Amino acid sequence: MSDKGFKIRIKIHGFTNLSIMRELIDEFLPPDNYELLEDDGFRTDSALHINLEGSCDKDEIKRELFSKLSAITGKRPDWGILTGVRPVKLAGEIMSGSSRDKALEILTKDYFLTENKAELIVDTYSHQYNNYGNPKPDTVGVYIGIPFCPTRCLYCSFASNQVPESEIERYMPALLHEIEYTGNAMKHKDVRPETIYIGGGTPTTLTAEQLDRMLTAVETTMDLSELKEFTIEAGRPDTITEDKLMVMKNHGVGRISINPQSMKARTLELIGRSHSPEDIVKAFDLAKSVGFDSINADLIAGLPEENSDDFRNTLDKVIEMGADNITIHTLAVKRASRLKDIDEDYHYKVAETVGKMLAEARQTLAAEGLSPYYLYRQKHMAGFFENTGYCREGIDCLYNIRIMDEHQTILALGAGGISKIYYPSTDKLERIPNVTNYEQYIDRIDEMCERKENKYFTQEVL
Ligand code: SF4
Repeated sequence: MSDKGFKIRIKIHGFTNLSIMRELIDEFLPPDNYELLEDDGFRTDSALHINLEGSCDKDEIKRELFSKLSAITGKRPDWGILTGVRPVKLAGEIMSGSSRDKALEILTKDYFLTENKAELIVDTYSHQYNNYGNPKPDTVGVYIGIPFCPTRCLYCSFASNQVPESEIERYMPALLHEIEYTGNAMKHKDVRPETIYIGGGTPTTLTAEQLDRMLTAVETTMDLSELKEFTIEAGRPDTITEDKLMVMKNHGVGRISINPQSMKARTLELIGRSHSPEDIVKAFDLAKSVGFDSINADLIAGLPEENSDDFRNTLDKVIEMGADNITIHTLAVKRASRLKDIDEDYHYKVAETVGKMLAEARQTLAAEGLSPYYLYRQKHMAGFFENTGYCREGIDCLYNIRIMDEHQTILALGAGGISKIYYPSTDKLERIPNVTNYEQYIDRIDEMCERKENKYFTQEVL
């Protein structure tokens, strides 16, 4: 399908919401290789047309589309007809009325998942269900975003700015203001954080003194009596110092994330990281010596020029370093990334290699006693696979579980933060975004607080 002039034409009779079919078709064919036609009431019988009779049941249409595209392309995507971000939610819905075996049967027969993926989400849901029930209604998750990193990774599509220290210092008063406003408003509304997650960007681009100021603001304005977990992403090893780790430890941070992505020097250089594999080992040793006993490591399957031996080697080293959580991401080629400009079809080309990497990683991690505890999918992932968090027994990340489960309000602070208000009566979420641009965030900080005030703190959330 590399010939960009050659297109398969797809027409679905009697079904107008074509956008929901595009995601499934994209798994078989790059967008340049097909055309999705509006239903004009006429059947077209060319070999390059797929004619589907409309049906009220979108899953039925997806199954038929899946079978026809499989026959034409020879591909059989592992996630079958599932295209959403949160397949574990579906496993939960099915398992609430069915046995494990029945759930596996439904996922493989009705949704066309491979046995491996069906087991993965059933195991992930079982971990969540067995360890955590639903959150208490007067608790929330709190996210604080630090949108700065030392350099920009090749695949990055996040709010990540490379700025002088003076700009980071300019960000601090606005962030502290939002923390103080939110902490006080939470007390007034009688809600408490169950988890706090400070992410980004790279929060450890802050100095030890700035981290201290931020964490002091959290501690003094929020009621932490229900807090079960406090995480800071210390993603880049080159931003980690003993001083910063000590500040975090002294403020009750229990979980950190040090993200190697790869332990191969050439890859780190290719993706634009400014550290070596040895820096990662040193950062792990330092964090352990300071007393952190819950350390996550993010890895990415499908990085440029990596084969399955490279990925296996990275995984072995991270296990050896003693990570308690290992999150295996599949490389996503998003619009805002530099990689997208270099090769927009990259995620199709590495599909087979990534499939092998993920399958081997699951086996290796199971043998090491790490089991899957959360999982999500994104658009434009290599091979349209998934991201999976694995953990040692009892050392998972509740914030990650809750945010994927979507049954708890998340209050997000900082540039790029998107709060999600959960309404139990309708089981729906409402999004309240902060602006992504950090300069605008500084200028419009009062407006960010007012948005939360108007949509959440002064509203009855039923
Ligand atoms: S560390 Fe994360 S947020 Fe920062 S540039 Fe890399 S991918 Fe983006």
